[in-house]
Amino acid sequence: MTDAPAALWAETDLGAIRHNLRQLAGAVPGGPGRVMGVVKADAYGHGAVPVARVLVEEGAEVLAVAKLPEAAELRRSGVEARVLVLAAPLPEFLPAYERLGLEAVVSSAEVARAVIEAAPGVAAHVKVDTGMHRLGLAPADAPAAVRQLQAAGVTVAALWTHLATADAARPGFVLEQVRRFDAVVRDLGDEAPPLVHLANGPAHVRLPPLTSRPALVRLGGVLYGLASDRAMAGAMTGLRPALRLVARVVHLQTVDRGESVSYGQTWTAERPTRIATLAIGYADGLPRALSNRGEVGIGGARYPIVGRVCMDMTMVSLGAPGGAPVGVGDEAVVFGPGGPSAEDAARAAGTISYELATQIGARVPRRVLAEGG
Ligand SMILES: *Cc1c(COP(=O)(O)O)cnc(C)c1O
Repeated sequence: MTDAPAALWAETDLGAIRHNLRQLAGAVPGGPGRVMGVVKADAYGHGAVPVARVLVEEGAEVLAVAKLPEAAELRRSGVEARVLVLAAPLPEFLPAYERLGLEAVVSSAEVARAVIEAAPGVAAHVKVDTGMHRLGLAPADAPAAVRQLQAAGVTVAALWTHLATADAARPGFVLEQVRRFDAVVRDLGDEAPPLVHLANGPAHVRLPPLTSRPALVRLGGVLYGLASDRAMAGAMTGLRPALRLVARVVHLQTVDRGESVSYGQTWTAERPTRIATLAIGYADGLPRALSNRGEVGIGGARYPIVGRVCMDMTMVSLGAPGGAPVGVGDEAVVFGPGGPSAEDAARAAGTISYELATQIGARVPRRVLAEGG
């Protein structure tokens, strides 16, 4: 956070995240005590530490990050809650897990052995690869790993898996993944860990419960009001967006008919046109793919991006001179309340809102809105 005046910032509405958690946890059997709040990638661009504090205050049972340095950052900032690192640990990282009091994914027989040898105090979440084929033990190998950990005195906190198609229009493969997972649980019988976790945000919002066993739900994008696709956006009634990316107008001009704007002259004025230059470019997280495609919101109206998005600046058309009441210093919302939704901006850029939210540039100052009680 810088104290210098800024013409560009990203703004997090913690009240929206608190609201979203309460609403989502209302539909979780067991309430927030069965929520794993996913705060990886700086809480999807919203600020991991302030978001983690809100989730813990609201009673989320455990937090999840993707990578060990993210967990270390939470600990450095005084977050003492349970934290699961979703990555497959490299064996040499495990002593750091133990030192930081983190929970580890056991994703292979090798990791199980490494936990037993190097970090037996770490709680293990044994991951079963039921068809995503990214991480995890094959269903046939998972029971042995659980028994081996338990026999060595390691706490196996949960058995879990990750779904490949929770946000697909027809979740047929989800049922197959659940079948494969259930077979592992049945095989373990009385030795099955006390908890399972299968559902991510889209599964929680769009599918009926996947298991009758005590289960955590791993909520990510939905906590932030971020939809992974159009169908999810439709299913997320009542959830609020929590992030705005705002750039101020730093220059205004009128270009004549026939004049072009920005690198490569990809947009040419068909009539005299008022052009506003915004203090944001692709290095700040406005995708270059929005050149001649995206829109921003200024004063409640929408204006199209014209010409190529540059590294540090972007131009928008305000239409005919004397039309739009826009001045230097005005705020343009690139996405979020007052501008296009992250979903709409992402679709125009050919990506998803998660990518937009997580690629805000490191040089963009962060503001956290005070909660209105
Ligand atoms: C990121 C992640 C989640 C959260 O997914 P959302 O779609 O954002 O809800 C859950 N589980 C795992 C393993 C993840 O990597």
